[in-house]
Amino acid sequence: MLRKLLSLIIFIIICSPAITAEKILIKRIEVHHDRGLEYLDIYTDGYVEGEGLLLENKLVLEFPKATVSPKVKIKLPKKKLRLIKKVRPKPKTDQIVLDLNKEIDYEIVNVFGRNKSVVEIRDRVDHTEEMMAAWEKKTLKLKAPKLEPKKYIEVKKTKKVLPLRGRIIVIDPGHGGLDPGAVAANGIAEKHLTLKVAKKIAYLLNEAGATVYLTRHKDRTVSIRELASFANRVKADIFVSIHYNYSYIKKVAGTETYYWNRQSRNLALTLHRSLVRGLKRRDRGLRRAKFYTINHTSMPAVILEPVFISNAEESKLASSAAYQAKLAQIIANGVKQYFRSKAR
Ligand SMILES: [Zn+2]
Repeated sequence: MLRKLLSLIIFIIICSPAITAEKILIKRIEVHHDRGLEYLDIYTDGYVEGEGLLLENKLVLEFPKATVSPKVKIKLPKKKLRLIKKVRPKPKTDQIVLDLNKEIDYEIVNVFGRNKSVVEIRDRVDHTEEMMAAWEKKTLKLKAPKLEPKKYIEVKKTKKVLPLRGRIIVIDPGHGGLDPGAVAANGIAEKHLTLKVAKKIAYLLNEAGATVYLTRHKDRTVSIRELASFANRVKADIFVSIHYNYSYIKKVAGTETYYWNRQSRNLALTLHRSLVRGLKRRDRGLRRAKFYTINHTSMPAVILEPVFISNAEESKLASSAAYQAKLAQIIANGVKQYFRSKAR
C-alpha cells in the first residue's frame, strides 16, 4: 500500500511541472483611439492580470502568468497615434513595451471571462514636477541652521549575517521647520508626515546592519544645499529623500519616483517598483528631473513621492500609523533588494 502511495506521489511530482509550465499565450494586440484616448486590447487564451510600470518615456506591461506568442499579431490604426510611438511585444517573455511620445497616465483593466486586458492611455493632467521645481527655488533661498543629522550606528554585537552591514545610507525626511512642504487635504503638513516615515525607515535599515543618517530628527529647517554636501562628505552609498506629492487637481493620486544621474536609475527603478507593487496606488511613473539634491549628490540618489496628500483618500492613508509602517517596510525592503542585486 505504502509502495503504491509512494509511486503515486512520484507520478504526481514528475507530471506536475508539465501541467504548471503550460503558460497562457498573448496572441493578439489591437490598438485604437477614441476621443483623445488611446487603447490597447490585449487578447490571450486565458485570464491574465496585467501590471504596468511607467518608466520615463516608456510603459512596460507585464503579464506574470502569460507569455507573448512568437506569432503575436499587432493591429494598428491607419492614422499615426499621438501618445503611443511604438508597440513592442517581447516574444517568449511576459512583456509588452510601449514607447511613448508624451507624458501619460494609464490604467489597466483585466476583463474577466473574456481573455482580454485593456490598457487605457491618456494625457497626463497635471504638472507636479513644475510645482516641485518652484518649491525648490524658494527653499534654496531659505536661511537654515547647520545640519544636525541623527546617526544610527551600525549594529556590531550580533553574530547574525545582516544584509546591509557596512552600508552607509542617508535618509532625508523632506522639508521641516520654516518649510512645511505641502499641506495635506486633512490639514497635516508634509514635513510631519515625512519625518514619521523616515524615522521608521532609518530604524529598519539600521536593524538590517546599515549605518544610517537621518538628516533631521525633529521639526527643523534644513538647507537642501547642505543635504547634498553632507551625503557626499559621509560617503553614503545611497541617498533617499522622502516626500509626499501635491496637485491642485484633487483627484490626482498615485506614486512617483524621481532621479537624475544615470547611476541612480537602478536604485530609483527598484524603489519605484516596490512602491507601485506594494502600495497598489496608481503608477505615475519613474521620472528624471534635475532637482538640487539628486543632482548634487555623488552617490545614487532618489526622491520618493509615494502618494498625493492633496488627494483626500491618499492623505488619510499617509496620516495613518499602519500605512506609515507599511510604507517604511516597503522602502526598507526595496533598499535591501537594491543592495542584493548590486552584490550579484
Ligand atoms: Zn515635498
